[in-house]
Amino acid sequence: MENPAQKLVVRNIGLMLSGKIEDPILDADCIVAIDGKISAFGYEKDLDTDDATTIVDANGVTLAPGLIDSHVHPVVGDYTPRQQQLNWIESTLHGGVTTLISAGEVHMPGRPKDIVGLKAMAIAAQRWYENFRPAGVKVLAGAPVIEHGMEEQDFKDLADAGVTLLGEVGLGSVKDGPTAKKMVDWARKYGMQSTIHTGGPSIPGSGLIDADMVLEAGTDVVGHINGGHSALPDDQIVCICEGCLKGLEIVHNGNERAALLTINTARELDQMDRVILGTDGPAGSGVQPLGILRMVSMLSSLGNVPAEIAFCFANGNTARVRELDTGLIEVGLCADFVLLDQAQHAPGETILKSVEQGNLPGVGMTIIDGVVCSERSRNTPPATRLPEVVAR
Ligand SMILES: [Zn+2]
Repeated sequence: MENPAQKLVVRNIGLMLSGKIEDPILDADCIVAIDGKISAFGYEKDLDTDDATTIVDANGVTLAPGLIDSHVHPVVGDYTPRQQQLNWIESTLHGGVTTLISAGEVHMPGRPKDIVGLKAMAIAAQRWYENFRPAGVKVLAGAPVIEHGMEEQDFKDLADAGVTLLGEVGLGSVKDGPTAKKMVDWARKYGMQSTIHTGGPSIPGSGLIDADMVLEAGTDVVGHINGGHSALPDDQIVCICEGCLKGLEIVHNGNERAALLTINTARELDQMDRVILGTDGPAGSGVQPLGILRMVSMLSSLGNVPAEIAFCFANGNTARVRELDTGLIEVGLCADFVLLDQAQHAPGETILKSVEQGNLPGVGMTIIDGVVCSERSRNTPPATRLPEVVAR
C-alpha cells in the first residue's frame, strides 16, 4: 500500500501575494497543495478541497510565498560560531523566511583553504544541510570560496558531487578580475551559480571588491551591492546596475543609503525584477531574524515601492534569479508560504499600507512543503488576526 496523498488546504485568505513583480496580487482566497506542491489556487468555491489531510483557516490574513534570504553564512546545523548563537535559523523562520541560500560557509573555525580541503568542506556542507533542515527551513549550502590554484577539473568534481553554488568571490585569495572570471565561467559551465563580495572589507582579513572587478568577474548575483557593510561610492553602484543584467542583491547587513540608491537606479532602468534581498547574517552585526521583513518595509517606505512589489524582492525575484522551485505561487512549485497580518496597533488602513509606512507585519504561520512549521511568530510584533489549523 502506498501512503495516501497529503493534501493541504488553506482557505479564507484575505489577500494572496504571488511573488510575481508583474502581477503581485492574485484574485484568490484559497490554495491547495498535494504532497508539498501547489496543485491549485483561486476561489474556494471553484476548487476541489475534498479529502484534505490538513486544513488551515487563514482567518482573513495575507498569504505570500515563503521569504528567501539570498545571502547567509551558515556553518553547521542551527549553530553559528560567528556570534556563538544557537537556533538562529529557527528564529529566522519566525521572521517568515523558509529558504536560506549560503554565500559561503566562511565562519567555520579553521576553514580549509587548500583545494582538496575546501572541496571536501563544500561537499560536506551541501550534504549536512540537505540531510537536516533546521526547524524545517531549507538551507541551500555548500558554497566554496574560490582560491588561487583551482583548475577546471575542481569545478567539475564539485558539480559532480552535488555542489550548485559558489560562495562570495573575493573572500578567498582570488581578488583579481581575470582569475575570478575564469573560475566563475568554469563554475557556470558545470551548472554552479556564483556571487561576489561587493564593496569594502567586511572583517579584518577580507578585501575591497570594486565595480571593475564585479563587472569583470560576471557572477550571476552581485552580492550585497549595498556593501557588507562598507558600500562602494555611488558612481560605482550605478555603474554596476547599468553595466550588467545580473541579480542586484541588497542586504540588511549593508549600507541603507546605498540600498536606496540601488532601488532608485533599478527603477530608472525599469529593472526592479533584478532586486533580491539577503541579510548577510550571521555577521559582525549579528543574526537578523527579521532582517528580510525589515528590508521589505525599509525599501517600501523609504524607497517609495508599493508593498506588494517590495515583497517580490524577498521571494519571487530571488526565486527567478536563483532558479528555485519555490518563492512563487505557481502550480507545481513547492508549497512554501508565510501567513502575515498587519501588526497590532500598527498604523495604516491595510497590511500593505502599514508596510508602506515603515511598519513590520506580524507573522502568524509558516508552511514548508505543505507542512505547518511554525504558528504565531515569537519575533515579529503580534499579528492582528491569526490563521489556525482547523483539521489535520
Ligand atoms: Zn560579503
